[in-house]
Amino acid sequence: MRTSRLFVQTQRETPADAEVMSHQLLVKAGYIKRLTSGVYSYLPLMWRVLQKISAIVSHEMDAAGAQQLHLPVLQPAELWQETGRWDRFVQDGLLMHFNDRHDRPLALGPTHEEVITDVARQQLKSYRQLPTHLYQIQTKFRDEPRPRFGLLRGREFIMKDGYSFHASQACLDNEYDVMAQTYYRIFERCGLQSLMVQSDSGAIGGAVSHEFMVLTHNQPDAQQSGENDVIFAQDAAGKVVYAANIEKAKVSDLYIDSDGTSYPLQLAKGIEVGNIFQLGTKYSVAMKATFTDEDGSEKPYIMGCYGLGVSRVAAAAVEQHHDANGLCWPVAIAPYHLVIVPANVKDDAQREAAETLYAEALKAGLEVVLDDRDERAGVKFKDADLIGYPLRITVGKSLATGQIEVKPRRATEPTLLGTAQAITWVTQWLTQQQQA
Ligand code: ATP
Ligand code: MG
Repeated sequence: MRTSRLFVQTQRETPADAEVMSHQLLVKAGYIKRLTSGVYSYLPLMWRVLQKISAIVSHEMDAAGAQQLHLPVLQPAELWQETGRWDRFVQDGLLMHFNDRHDRPLALGPTHEEVITDVARQQLKSYRQLPTHLYQIQTKFRDEPRPRFGLLRGREFIMKDGYSFHASQACLDNEYDVMAQTYYRIFERCGLQSLMVQSDSGAIGGAVSHEFMVLTHNQPDAQQSGENDVIFAQDAAGKVVYAANIEKAKVSDLYIDSDGTSYPLQLAKGIEVGNIFQLGTKYSVAMKATFTDEDGSEKPYIMGCYGLGVSRVAAAAVEQHHDANGLCWPVAIAPYHLVIVPANVKDDAQREAAETLYAEALKAGLEVVLDDRDERAGVKFKDADLIGYPLRITVGKSLATGQIEVKPRRATEPTLLGTAQAITWVTQWLTQQQQA
């Protein structure tokens, strides 16, 4: 991609309505545009990031044995009346709903327990078909009372939601553990440090549930982005031995484990990026969703559900990875790997060397941008830092001695390399980053 063609417009001013860093930077760096309250267009750079996060999510979900499908966004009220959730969601004001031309009420899906249970009950008739885990990655709609913080709390947002069906509690317990591990791996691959905490099940229901929190810190330059209070305890080695959402935690100063060892409790702010639930038979009983068990008896499925905020993960990654100059994407979810900047495009040698490197990078399979604009080098560097390309190659004065400069986004000084080694060095650096 050439910057002259790239559909991106950076801005130097901080948008007035953006209170947290991820919102400010995603707007300034040209990733998102607000359409209306809590609703954003994902511009090409943003869409690349979201696609990368989605690919990591699908890869890990598939590896865990789940199958991807795609359910309708439009949901009829009758289905939600079966579980009694229509009135509750309408009352809470969370449901985006309207009547169709035949005056039948419909909702834009805020979550899909009813729809998936309806699909399952028509097909999963025997214990032999269980367990089954189905998931999708889709836009969800919730008329949030306080949409804010850009992608962190939208009224339209992207979620991965998965639902599992089991013949026994032991089988659900096992899947729940597998999902907990899968979630840790997904967040780690996205470059996020997350913490699994005990939580309240809220409107989804069920007895056991855990949230995955990305802990945030007070930033001098922006408002606190973590909306959840997390309480946790660590042992001497720093390992977390207990963690809970404060809504769930019994308020005290100490956590005492089963051996009687006590640990001081610490308080932190967190962004909820995922939430897993053991639903039990709440939906299957209400919707008469049953299967024939091995002994011939008819039983409701025992269910689990697993949500993960794809667009919120992108924003949380920005909260964890930025500096005063802009975004610092982890390689795995960066929109591009590399930008090549000829310091002066009017200099034939620099322009040609940059073109050659660009062609080599494309050939090596790298996701590369060539900043071919006739702008001052300083302007191009500022944009590169703001957008947050993990690597920048500068073709400038050192070309006279056959060298170019490579600079990882967070490095203070560039490394000088011969033009012939540049792309090999870049490829190796990117591989190392992804393994680290
Ligand atoms: P919250 O407590 O933040 O309102 P929730 O608990 O209602 O979220 P879930 O129903 O658990 O949300 O949805 C699963 C995941 O979807 C959440 O863990 C979160 O990552 C994401 N998510 C939920 N609401 C939003 C939103 N308004 N904007 C962006 N992501 C969201
Ligand atoms: Mg939740």
